[in-house]
Amino acid sequence: MKDFSQFNDRYQSDLEGCAFETLAVRAGQVRSAECEHSEAIFPTSSYVFNSAAEAAARFAGESAGNVYSRYTNPTVRTFEDRLAALEGGEACAATSSGMAAIYAVALAHLKAGDHVLCSASVFGSTIMLFEKFLRKFNVSIDYVDLLDLNDWKNKTRENTRLFFLESPSNPLNDVADLEGIAAIAKAANALFVVDNCFCTPALQRPLQWGADLVVHSATKYIDGQGRCVGGAVVGSAELIEPVVGVLRSAGPTMSPFNAWVFTKGLETLSLRMKAHSENALQLAQWLQQHPNVKTVNYCGLENHPGYVLAKKQQSGFGGVLSFEVTGGRDEAWQVVDATRMISITANLGDVKTTITHPGTTTHGRLSEEERQKAGISQALLRVAVGLENIADIQRDLARGLDAL
Ligand SMILES: *Cc1c(COP(=O)(O)O)cnc(C)c1O
Repeated sequence: MKDFSQFNDRYQSDLEGCAFETLAVRAGQVRSAECEHSEAIFPTSSYVFNSAAEAAARFAGESAGNVYSRYTNPTVRTFEDRLAALEGGEACAATSSGMAAIYAVALAHLKAGDHVLCSASVFGSTIMLFEKFLRKFNVSIDYVDLLDLNDWKNKTRENTRLFFLESPSNPLNDVADLEGIAAIAKAANALFVVDNCFCTPALQRPLQWGADLVVHSATKYIDGQGRCVGGAVVGSAELIEPVVGVLRSAGPTMSPFNAWVFTKGLETLSLRMKAHSENALQLAQWLQQHPNVKTVNYCGLENHPGYVLAKKQQSGFGGVLSFEVTGGRDEAWQVVDATRMISITANLGDVKTTITHPGTTTHGRLSEEERQKAGISQALLRVAVGLENIADIQRDLARGLDAL
């Protein structure tokens, strides 16, 4: 067999000191002896060893190398190393979904008797996971006002082990003071976990503001084209090791094919997030002057309460906004139903623009009182702005808005 490896060394990139866009394209790639230019996919469940002794050493963790794809796969590792580089973290563990990432963090870092402080405005399934499952194992949870530092402080207990939030929040675009909350978590000796799904590392790197772990639904902007379901956890090697332990024992693993799609997604992440942010800002400004729009929630608008913090923490404002139409549920539904291009779906982070009525979908399981408390009226619509031409997105929303 020909040995090509001698030609290969030249092509292991030296990325010392390289910028985000460069890391997004090159970090984590380890070329095989075939010298492939694009990242290879390794769809293999297991690996062979040169001897019984080598197999024993690998299984015992005494020698580095692949063992079994539930917790070691080269394609998945490329994605993990690239995302870790982009978040500015030491290590990353990829998971089968965003929810699996949150669940793996909980399983790795919580035990019976612990207490979790969670922002009241997080993804609905996150609350379901905490309420339906963590409580079964005697982990207690309190919910706090994302924006109220005193609430975070006052609800911290002796046994609080984990702080959890998303910023900006969905669907109101509230922006958390990450440094302020990190200080409270640190004083309480609790892990500070940020779900960075809305911004991605292209716009915000929570570790830089004091977060201990970042979780992702790679399903959203990291894929960016609505193809694969996946997730990830990023942080120090010390905090990621127990998460890998969960993957090894419980198995919510990312498939090599999905890892490859996400790896290629990271290559264009910076460009896409810029374009999403530009389109969203233009749409927010246009909505703001429409006579049948009451309020617009987008942290890129100077009159939004989160604007100043977003300017500090983020390098862009993201692709998700919400707005209230004049009227109530019927009028909001009219705008949704009048669209002929925009997709009616609760998904986000896609090149295709999507629209949803939070009051009867993502937040439909809450009581009317809980919804009001969360600031989600029946007149509210959420748009995840895609990469179509902004004029076409506006025209599609104008069909319903002009008719109200
Ligand atoms: C979608 C989403 C999740 C869950 O991710 P999945 O990949 O669907 O499991 C978690 N957090 C946020 C903010 C999300 O938008």
